[in-house]
Amino acid sequence: MGAPTLLERETHMADVRESSNPYENAIQQLDTVAAHIGLDPDIHEVLKYPQRELTVHFPVKLDNGSTRVYTGYRVQHNLSRGPAKGGIRYSPRTDIDEVRALAMWMTWKCAIVNIPFGGAKGGVLCDPRTLSPAESERLTRRYASEIDLLIGPNTDIPAPDMGTNAQTMAWIMDTYSMHHGHTYPAVVTGKPVAIGGSEGRVDATGRGVYIVAREASKRMGMDLKGATVAVQGFGNVGGVAARILHEHGAKIVAVCDAFGGLHNPDGLNIPELMECQRNDGTLTTHAGGDPIGAMELLELPVDILVPAALENQITAANARRIQAKLVVEGANGPTTPVADRILHDRGVVVMPDVLANAGGVIVSYFEWVQDLQSYFWAENEVNVRMEQMMLRAYQEVVAIADRDNIDMRTAAYVIGVQRVADATKLRGIYP
Ligand code: NAD
Repeated sequence: MGAPTLLERETHMADVRESSNPYENAIQQLDTVAAHIGLDPDIHEVLKYPQRELTVHFPVKLDNGSTRVYTGYRVQHNLSRGPAKGGIRYSPRTDIDEVRALAMWMTWKCAIVNIPFGGAKGGVLCDPRTLSPAESERLTRRYASEIDLLIGPNTDIPAPDMGTNAQTMAWIMDTYSMHHGHTYPAVVTGKPVAIGGSEGRVDATGRGVYIVAREASKRMGMDLKGATVAVQGFGNVGGVAARILHEHGAKIVAVCDAFGGLHNPDGLNIPELMECQRNDGTLTTHAGGDPIGAMELLELPVDILVPAALENQITAANARRIQAKLVVEGANGPTTPVADRILHDRGVVVMPDVLANAGGVIVSYFEWVQDLQSYFWAENEVNVRMEQMMLRAYQEVVAIADRDNIDMRTAAYVIGVQRVADATKLRGIYP
């Protein structure tokens, strides 16, 4: 018997309560909102599937002279509202279902903040920490050549995600430009500023997390100044969010990366921790707190919890032990649908990934616009415009949550799914 088809798996899903498969969780989330808004069943069916999926197996020469074959993916979920947009992840745990889920979440996210993109995602199954810079460059250039079929400034625009960064984007931009005969800055976002990147892009996702944490705290009558915060993940999203929250007076009592974490109830010195990470590649060598595990950190008695590492961190197994009043999702998919329900019933407010971490894709949109126009904005202009878009989306989501008495994720999906459904319907089913 072969692997189950998407439809077989979906049918089976009706009785699945808790799944660690992010794509199954993404479909459950879509099903919940489809029932809530009475989504046309034909459109519902269309939105369950990614439109295109490419799997590539490609050889890379390693520094020791041997050759290793790597597997990579690029998935485009829905293109009704514009070209596909979404990050590329280098991870030893990625697979096609993770990439499908991340692509679907990108579709909703772009629609929720109302930017003209569809959703996509890419991934390469590898451990980026074990690759030398030269191996990483060869892997990236070969992967970029393999997915050249799909990407392009008008078709599909990648960006950084876990395990990739501005340098990765520079190599992809260069590889694509070499193949196509001239420089195409707009083929990727999250590039270094020196080659067409946008000011403010590095901080954008973490800054957006801060904006949502600030607004949600205000609404809950909680003062962000002095509020206690735990952050899981100390990379582009978690590290920046911790820094900006710290700058605005929040007390960051625990942070962690893949190697471990630090806890100090009196507050951690975030600038020192960042310096430590720059020097040692991890924050665990810092003496400013007691060691704490990544899962233990989630259950600390804090005001605000920011999961900013991986999917499936808050599940049926630990949702009842989460003590935070507010969860702001920096990562994609950190809370399972079952955990969502438990948190909602317990009165914990969850600001969902599709809104809370959308600052990155908003500034990626600005970067793409700047590249297409060859006209670049100052950092303050980028930050002000990003904040305006985040606030508008936040207010729209809160208004729906209040109107329908539903949790923030379902409210965000009401807006995102409806916008994508409307676009799909207006364009019609080809031919
Ligand atoms: P990153 O690679 O810069 O950082 C990831 C961090 O998580 C690192 O500190 C890493 O050590 C830590 N980590 C990895 N495994 C862990 C584990 N098992 N336990 C605890 N910590 C662990 O990646 P990033 O760009 O910060 O992405 C983090 C999350 O945010 C992902 O879910 C990603 O999809 C999402 N996201 C990223 C962006 C972006 O602009 N980079 C935008 C939106 C969403």
